[in-house]
Amino acid sequence: MTTSTTVTAQPVRTRLVVLTAIGAMLVCPLTFAQSAAATAGPSGKISPVAPRKEQVQAIVQEAYNKFKNDTRGKNADYIPELGKVDSKLFGIAIVTTNNQTVSVGDTKTAFSIQSIAKVFSLALAMEEQGADKIFDKVGSEPTGRAFNSPVAVVDMPTHTGNPLVNAGAIATVSIVSGKTPEEKWNKILGFYSRVAGEKLTLIDSVYKSEAATNTGNKALSYLLAKYDRIYADPFESVDVYTKECSVGVNALQLARMGATLANYGVNPATGEQVVKRENVPEILSVMMMAGLYDGSGKWAWHVGLPAKSGVGGGIVAIVPGKGAIAVFAPPLDEAGNSVKAQEVIEYVANRLDYNLYSPASVGLK
Ligand code: GLN
Repeated sequence: MTTSTTVTAQPVRTRLVVLTAIGAMLVCPLTFAQSAAATAGPSGKISPVAPRKEQVQAIVQEAYNKFKNDTRGKNADYIPELGKVDSKLFGIAIVTTNNQTVSVGDTKTAFSIQSIAKVFSLALAMEEQGADKIFDKVGSEPTGRAFNSPVAVVDMPTHTGNPLVNAGAIATVSIVSGKTPEEKWNKILGFYSRVAGEKLTLIDSVYKSEAATNTGNKALSYLLAKYDRIYADPFESVDVYTKECSVGVNALQLARMGATLANYGVNPATGEQVVKRENVPEILSVMMMAGLYDGSGKWAWHVGLPAKSGVGGGIVAIVPGKGAIAVFAPPLDEAGNSVKAQEVIEYVANRLDYNLYSPASVGLK
């Protein structure tokens, strides 16, 4: 395995992982081909969709250099603590389904996961209740409106919209089982940590800052109650939701969380089946339709990958069966999506033929 300062194998259970990676090289198409011998599948053919690791590293570095000085966008400041984050921070990480990593820039700096958390509480709720119940109780329709829109709650037949807008996410949290809000919260944090393959913690200053200013989300929760679309105490649900949004992650951890989804729910670093395999396609489909809110149509047009953004400046995009790319850069566009993260992922996805709607993604030239 090639190593350098920026291309490293994960330290987690290194030996086991190396063995697992070698095993994986023998049986499945790789994201990173390193040599013809290493990537030959059972048929003896080289995967047509496996770029070499050095090639991925070079393209990620190119993207970093190209967008490093892009100053467009502005930190979120409706949560005051987010306005204080250094807007120059910029990191790109890729984790593959066989746990290889590429990272450039500030990939070890923790930031608040914000709305990206919604994907994983959706996974937990589906785990507990099954996909059909969540579809009935929350739904899966894009709202075409801002992520915190009360108008969408009033207008949409389901009221909740989908699990990736605030209203739908608060409803999803309300479904997660637990006798007390603390029990729910601990369960959610434990689940996220298993998806990341590392213990994650709350960024207390972000939580306090949002908890002191989240009147809009409280209003959404009461609107949901009016339509019988919230399934536990509204304000307690908002509080657990606010905590889950304040979980700290770095770009590498976020890429690993994405790679777990890309890998049918198995964390590539720990080998644990964290997310139920059968729920992965539904989760990715919601991400495709609503992961960037009212920017989701533009995203699908240009990039063609399921992704999720957060107002903390993170975006993670999933390349099913191959891996995930996570980018952290705080300045956001009007829709609340990181400007640089969108640019970088679009650039890398185009260069590596990752767009799922392009036949090139499965090797057709
Ligand atoms: N915690 C944020 C909120 O509720 C999450 C929004 C986001 O990341 N888009 O407003």
